[in-house]
Amino acid sequence: MTNPKDSQMPVWRQRAACRGVDPDIFYPVSDEEAEDAKSICRGCAVQELCLEWALSNREKEGVWGGATERERRRIIRRRRRTA
Ligand code: SF4
Repeated sequence: MTNPKDSQMPVWRQRAACRGVDPDIFYPVSDEEAEDAKSICRGCAVQELCLEWALSNREKEGVWGGATERERRRIIRRRRRTA
């Protein structure tokens, strides 16, 4: 499978812990199955950059910066409330 995360790859992705990892892990069918991806993200040097990039780009699918799509929506809502 071609990794959708490789398209228009930002520079920080060169330090990503998920490089070379099976991309399917980062596209779980449910939040409950996202733990493998999240555990990789927890050890990633660019987790914050990745999360902010996904939030800015409104990434709809996959685990980015240790957060699933549903968790990212929650973060965006929380930020809007406190802005
Ligand atoms: S935080 Fe997760 S998805 Fe983002 S670059 Fe790191 S390992 Fe990959």
